Amino acid sequence: MKEFKIAQPKSLDQVTSLLSQKNTDYALMAGGTDLLDEIKNKIIAPEVVIDLKSVPDLSTIKMDKTHVSIDAMTCVADLAENPIIRENFPVLVEAALSLASPQLRNVGTVGGNLCQRPRCWYYRDPDTICRKKGGSRCFALRGRNRYHAIFGGGMCYIVHPSDLAPALISLDAEITINGLEGKKNILRLEDFFTLPQNNVRKENVLEARQVLSEIRIPLPKNGSKSTYYKFKERGTWDFAVVSAAISGVISGGVFRDIKIVCGGLAPIPWRLKKAEDFIKGKNLTEEVIKQGAKEALTDARPLEENTYKMGLVEAVLYTAISSMI
Ligand SMILES: Cc1cc2nc3c(=O)[nH]c(=O)nc-3n(C[C@H](O)[C@H](O)[C@H](O)COP(=O)(O)OP(=O)(O)OC[C@H]3O[C@@H](n4cnc5c(N)ncnc54)[C@H](O)[C@@H]3O)c2cc1C
Repeated sequence: MKEFKIAQPKSLDQVTSLLSQKNTDYALMAGGTDLLDEIKNKIIAPEVVIDLKSVPDLSTIKMDKTHVSIDAMTCVADLAENPIIRENFPVLVEAALSLASPQLRNVGTVGGNLCQRPRCWYYRDPDTICRKKGGSRCFALRGRNRYHAIFGGGMCYIVHPSDLAPALISLDAEITINGLEGKKNILRLEDFFTLPQNNVRKENVLEARQVLSEIRIPLPKNGSKSTYYKFKERGTWDFAVVSAAISGVISGGVFRDIKIVCGGLAPIPWRLKKAEDFIKGKNLTEEVIKQGAKEALTDARPLEENTYKMGLVEAVLYTAISSMI
């Protein structure tokens, strides 16, 4: 592992002004559970690591009349235990508790979880220079692709690893991004993530001089329900093979409004809009839910080893939605 220096800024403005200095290669570190692996695997070799833990007051959860706001440095365990989150957003608690191990949840942060890099074995292999690392090929296309994308691939077939992202998108979360000189940019979390065809080296629109500072979720409407179901191979910690975050308003056994956002399927958290449109307004029978999943899967393009994910999507949606009625 290449040696690096640590910078310990005392405010977000100091963070962005450090990032704006030319000729130095910086990396942001929150909990470091992903970043340090990236450095050890020689995927990145920053000269200076900016330790966001040195910035005070970046890990609070607050509620006002319309929203709940979560600071980016809130650790995943605190998110899952917070009474405001537990009362209002079951999908977020379930996603947080499904993620990694208790030790990692105590260290890993919400911001770091949204900005973490992919787990594709070609990308993580120090000796493989795939397209995401500046090479000319995606090795998953013709190689071992059991865990790879069935939607949104093409240039690169990673799946987005975050469990919190599908949950937060299903809840219509917005994020705040801080740039130079106190400039703040607010955008929908759904618009934060970007497909490989836009920039194969990145998974989101964050620029080199920016830092994610806050996540805001609108308070739930009357009749709202939400859940997260994650299919993983190992009973202990594991990333999602397929997961689904479902949020919506139900009355009389019918979804008046529904958002379905999946993990494990695509390079970004993937919304199943065709399933949402099919299910909305109908009595929730097994047939309706399964047909909704089938509608969404008409756009899927599985690879040689991951056709099994098609059946899993149906099973995961059925399990998640039937638990809500
Ligand atoms: C063994 C293991 C199992 C795991 N299992 C799961 C799992 O099941 N589900 C899941 O979702 N995750 C899983 N993870 C990933 C883990 O959840 C994340 O590593 C963690 O949440 C990231 O948080 P962090 O604070 O440690 O991020 P860091 O490692 O500090 O940062 C991750 C990335 O985000 C960037 N970053 C961090 N904070 C900010 C910010 N505020 N603004 C801009 N960029 C930022 C960093 O530069 C870095 O590129 C696992 C990790 C490990 C090691």
